[in-house]
Amino acid sequence: VVLAGCTSSKTNETTNTTSSNGSSSTETKKIKIGFSLPTMREERYQRDRDAFVEEAEKLGAEVLVQGANNDENLQNSQVENLITQGIDVLVLDPQNAVSAATLVEKAHQAGIKVISYDRLILNSEPDVYISFDNERVGELQGEFLTKLVPKGTYFIFAGAPTDNNATLFKKGAMKYIQPLVDKGDIKIAFDQAIKDWDPNEALKLAENALTANKNKVDAILAPNDGTAGGIIQALAEQKLAGKVPITGQDAELAAVKRIVEGTQSMTVFKDVRVLARKAAQIAVMLAQGKEVKDIPEINKTVNNQKIDVPSLLLTPVVITKDNIDKELIDSGWFTREQVYGK
Ligand code: BGC
Repeated sequence: VVLAGCTSSKTNETTNTTSSNGSSSTETKKIKIGFSLPTMREERYQRDRDAFVEEAEKLGAEVLVQGANNDENLQNSQVENLITQGIDVLVLDPQNAVSAATLVEKAHQAGIKVISYDRLILNSEPDVYISFDNERVGELQGEFLTKLVPKGTYFIFAGAPTDNNATLFKKGAMKYIQPLVDKGDIKIAFDQAIKDWDPNEALKLAENALTANKNKVDAILAPNDGTAGGIIQALAEQKLAGKVPITGQDAELAAVKRIVEGTQSMTVFKDVRVLARKAAQIAVMLAQGKEVKDIPEINKTVNNQKIDVPSLLLTPVVITKDNIDKELIDSGWFTREQVYGK
């Protein structure tokens, strides 16, 4: 697919065939998109990558993908490198919500539009934010847990403090949990964030929390499936797996299997295939010079402590034993065999 006229909107061309400022060029140069992910550790990121690349290529663009191994310095150099390679749009899922602001500035200085992908970049001026309703993700976790365990001792785990999503997930969950704490029905015996969302860190924290509380825990808020996996391992060491309700997020295969087997209570499904496809479409539109205000799907704003960022937020879905088939198998997220082994 050739996208006619796409060169005219570029300001970072390295070829000398393109004239500046809207006048057309005889040569149509391929749109180049930089896609920078904070990590490839969680299963979801392969889906983000694959769906993004597939959609962008379908639209005639080329994608350069980078994974930063949970290392903000690595992400900085990867993004600087993408900028040098002449990308037209930067799609950035930041390892560090605060320090990534510099990357937005650097991209803009090079005339490159920036999409804040999945995680919000704070204190900066990204052109668009494309994500899920992340506070809603937390609400789904908190609502689920408090319905099941309206009274008792809770452990609260939160995601990485460097990730704005983690703040939103916890905020949403606490909308349900805090009122019951205030009433005296729920006691929070442990409340900590997990550095870099690391499942091993979650395991260690959970082991210590169980020891410190003599295994007395009635419900656990886990922010995603990866960390839930670590915490459930700690529960298993104490023969408590399956006895303590615990949340999750991402609909990872291991987590969905744990739901089937009864050691994890729920997960939150975010169809990142849809997220990635939309991001690719919008990236191409921006590269072609389309204005954000002319893209009807971008119909909200989210404040990032500097501006109201034009945003598109998708809706997350709770998964329990009862809707695995409908939501995850019928939608092609997993095959029946993957989940049930037959
Ligand atoms: C994402 C989650 C993911 C977590 C760890 C969050 O920003 O929204 O889907 O599990 O990061 O990578």
